[in-house]
Amino acid sequence: MTQPSHFGATVQGRCPACGKTSLFLGEGGYVTCARLDCLHPEAATELLEQPDALRITSTLAQLTGAVAGVTARLDEHVNAVKRAVATRGVGDAR
Ligand SMILES: [Zn+2]
Repeated sequence: MTQPSHFGATVQGRCPACGKTSLFLGEGGYVTCARLDCLHPEAATELLEQPDALRITSTLAQLTGAVAGVTARLDEHVNAVKRAVATRGVGDAR
């Protein structure tokens, strides 16, 4: 299979997944992220093919942030409980 002549060309804009200016025209004419550490190199193509994905991606990013916040608060809570248990020396603790 021969590639179109624009294969490998740099694409303007930022990768929706990693935010870097690392997009290029990949195999089959799909816009792809060139970064090896990108978690979702085909995100740009998915957005182009399915505009609803932009809203979904945005929602997922917000949810990811919210989960990180909850996780951090849970860690604080668990550590506070551990400190309290250690300080009081709860008798029925294993
Ligand atoms: Zn990327």
